[in-house]
Amino acid sequence: MIPIAKPLIGDEEKQAVLEVLDSGMLAQGPRVKAFEEAFAEMCGVKYAVATSSGTTALHVSLLAHGIGPGDEVITSPFTFIASANSVLFVGAKPVFVDIDPVTFNIDPAQIEAAITPRTKAIMPIHLFGLMADMAPIMDIAERHKLVVIEDACQSHGASYQGKRAGAFGTGTFSLYPTKNMTSAEGGMITTSDEVIAESCRVIRQHGMRHRYYHDELGFNFRMTDVHAAIGLAQLYKLQHNNEVRQANARFFNQYLKGVVTPVVPEGCEHVFHQYTVRVSGGRRDALMTYLHDHGVGYGVYYPVPIHKQTYYVKELGYDMSLPEAERAAEEVLSLPVHPALSSQDLETIVATLNDFVGA
Ligand SMILES: *Cc1c(COP(=O)(O)O)cnc(C)c1O
Repeated sequence: MIPIAKPLIGDEEKQAVLEVLDSGMLAQGPRVKAFEEAFAEMCGVKYAVATSSGTTALHVSLLAHGIGPGDEVITSPFTFIASANSVLFVGAKPVFVDIDPVTFNIDPAQIEAAITPRTKAIMPIHLFGLMADMAPIMDIAERHKLVVIEDACQSHGASYQGKRAGAFGTGTFSLYPTKNMTSAEGGMITTSDEVIAESCRVIRQHGMRHRYYHDELGFNFRMTDVHAAIGLAQLYKLQHNNEVRQANARFFNQYLKGVVTPVVPEGCEHVFHQYTVRVSGGRRDALMTYLHDHGVGYGVYYPVPIHKQTYYVKELGYDMSLPEAERAAEEVLSLPVHPALSSQDLETIVATLNDFVGA
């Protein structure tokens, strides 16, 4: 089976982990600091704050911006559950706006209609490796004095009009093994705002500015030096691995038939966390079976939009229709695009899919 995702771990990561283990200092320390500095540089921001996961990066960012009970955060329903759940963790309410059917990202033209006196933030998700349409989003945020928290958990190294993901608002990244780079588990917050960066560091560590003095409520959301060692080694390979993903995507764009292939808007660098096609006419389930039977792994991200998840409907009372997100959930299918694919794998994926559609 050609896997849908595969982390590429080499001697660099292994060596770096052994060095940390031999040092005897395992918890958050000099490796985390080095990783934060290198990650901030990659994004083109002043500060990065490492956390234990992408989910905790989102959670901490919202808290650092003072978002809490009574506040609303405008976001996309077509994403991993952690995006919206982080808003619930701080006691605020996710307000869902439908997506642009071409990019799968939040439709900026529908954001303003969702703004109320309670709205505090917009949280665009840069889904599948493609950044949301940030120019109109930043414009709306500025006019309505809203915070922007980017969920860049799938977009390490992606850019929009020459500026990297995580450099527009407060950026949040996941370092889970299936992402474009990993630290096994881990997360990163990016910002050029010194006050926000410091607040994130304090919330990450028990609300502690001075050792054993706690002026606010915090958590243990730290990253360990063991994880940071892996993450730093992975960061050095990010550019190359993203280029391999892009080359794989170009191959698919050229040869796949009978499905809608991804579009890259002008001025965007797509880093293809996922290569996601649309399969219309109710053929997707048959295609899934066919791919499985022919040894091609795939993913459906995501089969249920968040406003239709049972917890949101039954417990939180969401009762709304967002037609483009719902249609995407029925039609999307992601093919393996990761840098561990061989050219034989690429040929197999194309041949299998084209056989299915009869091309
Ligand atoms: C992976 C992911 C997250 C959560 O990251 P974890 O590291 O798994 O906690 C959040 N949002 C999106 C869009 C993701 O893809």
